[in-house]
Amino acid sequence: MKKQTTKTKIWLTVFCVFAMVIVGVCWHFKVAEKIVSSAEAWKLDSGELSLHAINVGSGDALVVILPDRKTMLIDTGDNGEYKTTKKYYSEVLKLGKTLDYLVITHPHSDHFGEGTELLADYDFGEIFLPFVDSINSADDEANNGGKLPVAGGTAGANSKSYGAFIGAVYAEQTKITYLDDAAPILGDGYTITFWTPNVEYVRDHIDGSNPNPNDISAMMTIEYKNKVFVLTGDATGDDEAAFMSAVPENFFNGKDVYLKVAHHGSNTEKSNGAAFLNFIKPKYAMISAGKKDKKDYGLPSEAAVSRIEAVGAVVFATLNNGNIVFEVSPNGTFAYYLGEAVDVSGAYIGLIVVLGLSILYIWLGKTARITRSALFR
Ligand SMILES: [Zn+2]
Repeated sequence: MKKQTTKTKIWLTVFCVFAMVIVGVCWHFKVAEKIVSSAEAWKLDSGELSLHAINVGSGDALVVILPDRKTMLIDTGDNGEYKTTKKYYSEVLKLGKTLDYLVITHPHSDHFGEGTELLADYDFGEIFLPFVDSINSADDEANNGGKLPVAGGTAGANSKSYGAFIGAVYAEQTKITYLDDAAPILGDGYTITFWTPNVEYVRDHIDGSNPNPNDISAMMTIEYKNKVFVLTGDATGDDEAAFMSAVPENFFNGKDVYLKVAHHGSNTEKSNGAAFLNFIKPKYAMISAGKKDKKDYGLPSEAAVSRIEAVGAVVFATLNNGNIVFEVSPNGTFAYYLGEAVDVSGAYIGLIVVLGLSILYIWLGKTARITRSALFR
């Protein structure tokens, strides 16, 4: 009888170990698949415009595939996210190593943080930079001397990392355009316009004792087939006001609008103001925000999301929806695609722990029962 029990125990243990291996393998591949899952839904066809918010946690990393197949990267994600973005560029978008445009909306590390690594791998035809000075001395020698320094602590333009990034930009020896003076890009059936900031606005906003880099976020539109993508960086209320002054009053009339929400869905610094949202009236909105944003800053803010929904928009966030893709096809229809965002690691860890405890119970069950009954005696 004892022999039989041991044999059963061995078989149960083998089953549990086997199940653990299966769960472990599934876990590995599930996590590895997480980033590319939207590719299953989104396919690169000819002639469409697509805007991709890569799920980089806290930060922005956007890609625009233009109808003529030119490519624009808008912000890079924060330091440490390059593995995620690179995988998306190469495996989902299948981009080559020479891209057309890189835009850094403003000098905060959650927007330029992976710029140096990105430039080590990819070449760009033109790089759009904030109109501010960095601590890189090559910057002083190479620029026209008209730029002003902007504070922002260790994450801002005065940081070593921004200085290093600017060094990498100069090493590229590519065309550099400052965002206070960027002409529209007129493509085949599409137009990209840089509305803010202009030079007077930049000087006004970085002259104070504690200037805020968010204030000078580039606000852009991409028009195609009577649809408009509005891109905002981490725009503040001042920036939104400047945008509304710069854009012609009837610009959005009769057009469907799709918004990349400002500042990770923030309610501070008067971001995502009701006046701005009523001005553009988006149909769909995408927020790039991560778990850390949620935990540390309460982002995306419920108040901001409510204001966006109040003007009739459907709101997605990378935090809940994973990678987000907005697409306008050549016949003018809009579609969105959402990536896998469910964090399954907890469930897999739970299963492995349960199986591990089962093995323990199989071998020590009798001892445990004795101990328990001893306790209640
Ligand atoms: Zn940001």
